[in-house]
Amino acid sequence: QSTRKPLVAGNWKMNLTHLEAIALVQKVVFSLDEKTLDQVEVVVLPPFVSLRGVQTLVDGDKLEIEYGAQDVSAHESGAYTGEVSASMLAKLGCAFVTVGHSERREYHHEDDALVNAKAKIAFAHGIIPIVCVGEGLEVREAGEHVSHVVAQVAAALEGVPAEQAKDIVIAYEPVWAIGTGKTATPEDAQEVCSAIRDQLADLYSGDLADGVRILYGGSVKPDNTAALASQPDVDGSLVGGASLDGEQFAAICKLT
Ligand code: PEP
Repeated sequence: QSTRKPLVAGNWKMNLTHLEAIALVQKVVFSLDEKTLDQVEVVVLPPFVSLRGVQTLVDGDKLEIEYGAQDVSAHESGAYTGEVSASMLAKLGCAFVTVGHSERREYHHEDDALVNAKAKIAFAHGIIPIVCVGEGLEVREAGEHVSHVVAQVAAALEGVPAEQAKDIVIAYEPVWAIGTGKTATPEDAQEVCSAIRDQLADLYSGDLADGVRILYGGSVKPDNTAALASQPDVDGSLVGGASLDGEQFAAICKLT
């Protein structure tokens, strides 16, 4: 774990206007100390319309945080009304994009093939995909969570070469823990994150798997961060609700 720099990403979902977004980024940065910024990669994921404002703020004030988008089109450009392309995100300085968030899979019917296409187009434009995987409650109760999640990882990486896959970030987010206040136990998170790493080793190599950041997501808060982050295969978190509070988000970064 020592060679992997932990990463904490705040998924703001569909919250905050572009003005509120700027205020929140300022609050987050104000609440972070130098040591945390040295040790943890801090990323915010605002809605599309706030990215330009966040870019101006981060560039103008040379802030030591990164930002990205919550989704990307699988198409390069053209007649896809309402979609936003990877080249547009790259031009806005997005370093990351989440793909396959469970809310996209559930409400927008995104399947593994689309998640794979989105991951590929992000890489093609120099943006690191944060690929979200995770099982629903029924799968967990049937005891099939590990096989379900590792299959999602393999599908997301289908045809992705090692030169790109080495930079991927995977977020393990059990669907039953997102926005519900139910957190997986640190042992639950470790079990699946370690299985994801084994899967990466099988698909590519042990060396590649050792370098990939695997995050946990699902009701992460300051009071459960340290126990989750201390697990050997958990390299940070994808934070939803608590990322909308600058002080809480900064506290999660510090405790990681
Ligand atoms: C998420 O949106 O990825 C998430 C984990 O949300 P929450 O932290 O609110 O459960």
